[in-house]
Amino acid sequence: TPVIGVLALQGDVREHLIALASADAVARPVRRPEELAEVDGLVIPGGESTTMSKLAVLFGMMEPLRARVAAGMPVYGTCAGMILLADEILDPSPSSPSRSSGGYPISGQETVGGIDMIVRRNAFGRQNESFEAAVEVDGVPGGSVEGVFIRAPWVESVGAAVDVIATHGGHIVAVRQGNALATSFHPELTGDHRVHALFVDMVRAVGRLDPGRISRVRID
Ligand code: GLN
Repeated sequence: TPVIGVLALQGDVREHLIALASADAVARPVRRPEELAEVDGLVIPGGESTTMSKLAVLFGMMEPLRARVAAGMPVYGTCAGMILLADEILDPSPSSPSRSSGGYPISGQETVGGIDMIVRRNAFGRQNESFEAAVEVDGVPGGSVEGVFIRAPWVESVGAAVDVIATHGGHIVAVRQGNALATSFHPELTGDHRVHALFVDMVRAVGRLDPGRISRVRID
């Protein structure tokens, strides 16, 4: 059974722990580098991304997180967690009502990175513009999932290595690059844990990738 951590500096940690447990993982909160070293995969929850990244720096977690993500540890970010996995972030332009163009790079907000994408924070609007919508997610069987969007970001653009696995209203809201998964919305806030099950499968798949074994297998 894979052991999956939930980064527990800020945000909706408890909901992810419950969702992971119901998707047949052993789930535990992760606050310290020693705890990070013991998990097979990590969820970065929803919350407030600037606070979360400041706390990650303060707790000495930013570099260990970057190192493990770079080494291929499976990671799943929801909403603020998606922002933390972005190689680049934009704020909505305060003067742009459509929020479809403009914006400026946020200086000083550090991210873990790992997904070659530009994410626009609060792109879908303010807290009171939060909404729910049915979203089809590639790789999640059984029809659409209920997407809960709370002051949600969207993905403005992705690099060639990134798979877009869901869109809403013409905007990218879920992506996957290798072992990294990110959604603008919050599956942990619904009783439907199929997206978490997809992530648990990603973690299991890495567990099976014993390099020694792979090199002995002929695939031609
Ligand atoms: N708007 C938040 C941020 O920028 C994310 C909101 C969320 O995680 N629900 O961090």
